[in-house]
Amino acid sequence: MNNSNMNRRGFFSTLVKVAGAFVVAPTVINSVLTSTAEAQKKRGAAPAAAGGAMPMVDPNDAVAKAVKYVEDFKKTPDSKGNKCLTCSFYAKKETRNGKEAGTCTIFAGKLVYADAWCSSWNKKA
Ligand code: SF4
Repeated sequence: MNNSNMNRRGFFSTLVKVAGAFVVAPTVINSVLTSTAEAQKKRGAAPAAAGGAMPMVDPNDAVAKAVKYVEDFKKTPDSKGNKCLTCSFYAKKETRNGKEAGTCTIFAGKLVYADAWCSSWNKKA
């Protein structure tokens, strides 16, 4: 095998790898986007493509955990019957998953359920 054949083989080998990347990359990206959209849908958040609706607060995110956020005030005795609906930081916005949801000052850009609660609850005046 001469040097010219080696260069040609190397060129075609590289071409196959690059072409493969173009075939695989969109599949991987599509898969990631689909799983992200499905995760948002499970959480009750509309995908960004559907008008950029605000996502619901994830009880597992760091801030939510720090303030002991729960989506249903009845599930924690710490709430003492209080909930977002009666919190001064809450403002009604829309219905999500058949439940009232609104904005909360401590969770900028996200929504909380009216029946949720966290340790920052502050009695509405
Ligand atoms: S601060 Fe008030 S409105 Fe916000 S999550 Fe806590 S209880 Fe709900």
